[in-house]
Amino acid sequence: METEAKKHVFETAELGTAPFRCVAIEDTSIGADENGMIHIGGGQMTKPGGSCDYCGNGIVTFCWIVSKDKKRFKVGTTCVNKTGDAGLKKVVAKHISAKRKVARVKAVARQEIRIEAAKITLEELKGYFSNIESVHDWKAEKGETRYDDLIWMFKNSGHSGRYRVTRFIEKVAADLLPA
Ligand SMILES: [Zn+2]
Repeated sequence: METEAKKHVFETAELGTAPFRCVAIEDTSIGADENGMIHIGGGQMTKPGGSCDYCGNGIVTFCWIVSKDKKRFKVGTTCVNKTGDAGLKKVVAKHISAKRKVARVKAVARQEIRIEAAKITLEELKGYFSNIESVHDWKAEKGETRYDDLIWMFKNSGHSGRYRVTRFIEKVAADLLPA
C-alpha cells in the first residue's frame, strides 16, 4: 500500500511520476559578462537563471529532471537535496563536481596566461627589482637581489607559488609602469 509519506515530493507537487532521473545540469551563468548579464543578441541582455519548477524560487543552476512518465522539468540544487531521494542527490552531486573540476581547470589556464605575462613584466622591471636585496639574508650576502628571488620562484615553484609571485609583480607594475 502506498502511503502519502512515502510519495516522492516531486510527485506530490504533480511534476510527474517517480522515479525521477537527473538528465542534465545547466549553469545559466556561463557566458555572463562582468555585470552578470547574458547577451542574447540585437543588443539585448537578460539575467541568467529562471525559476525552480518545484518551489518557484529563482535559480541559476538548473537540474533538469525527467519523470517516469517522461515529464521534463527543472529544479534548483537545493530542492534536489531536500527531496530525500538519495539516488537523485548522488547524480546531481556528481554532475556538479564535474562542472567544478572544469571551472577549476579553466581558472588555472587563465592564471597560467597571467604567469607568462608576469615573466615578461619582470624583465621590464629588472632594474627596479635588481636594486632590492634578496629577502633571504644568505642570498643577499652573496649579492643576490629580489629579481633573483622572483626568477627562482618562477623556475622552482608550483602553480600556486608562481601565481602568488605573478600577483605581486602585477601589483608592482600597476604602481610603477605607465598603463
Ligand atoms: Zn526549488
